[in-house]
Amino acid sequence: MSDYITIALSKGRIFKETIPLLKAAGIEPLDDPETSRKLILDTTREDVKIVIIRATDVPTYVQHGAADLGVTGKDVLMEHGGEGLYELLDLHIAQCRLMVAGFENKPLPTDTLRVATKFVDCARRYFSSQRRQVEIIKLYGSMELAPIVGLADCIVDVVDTGGTLKANGLVPLEHMYDISSRMVVNKASMKTRSTEIKAMLAQIESAITMEK
Ligand code: AMP
Repeated sequence: MSDYITIALSKGRIFKETIPLLKAAGIEPLDDPETSRKLILDTTREDVKIVIIRATDVPTYVQHGAADLGVTGKDVLMEHGGEGLYELLDLHIAQCRLMVAGFENKPLPTDTLRVATKFVDCARRYFSSQRRQVEIIKLYGSMELAPIVGLADCIVDVVDTGGTLKANGLVPLEHMYDISSRMVVNKASMKTRSTEIKAMLAQIESAITMEK
């Protein structure tokens, strides 16, 4: 066991919106990941470090104990499956919706539906719970392009303002899940560092209540 607690965060929106919450627990990073190339950031607390990784890698780091705690979207957690970690807190940040989107005036086929997405497992579970037959086409980005070029009938993607869909002539068709960022913890860390982690959580939780 290392001498410090490691928190895994991704750059951008999650980092910006998590930092004010961590501040409530006395944790402030000593470097800005937008300007520094460091991947391990010291903080104002000697017993806490922040590692900067992609949001999709956060569950993997936490699952294997490479980070004790992490923050990532519910979409990422659903896709990962949640093995080896506990979901502790809804931080109510980076809120969006996981949706099925397609063309406004073109009904979806009733036989096999071709769905382009990076959320392969989520999409499979959603359509299978509705007994709809699907062919999932795994993509890593620019999902909106798939229906336009005839690669898929619809997409499953996260939507915030809907601006990206609209700019590409698509509309939201079905609301699958509400998404927000969650704090997760490695199951073993929750036992071995229970006192420090619970104290940190209580401070973060009160900051969330104040923000609401
Ligand atoms: P919007 O045009 O506002 O609907 O944003 C849609 C795009 O922004 C999506 O294609 C996502 O790539 C990204 N996005 C928006 N909100 C989030 C979020 N909370 N988490 C991850 N990606 C997001």
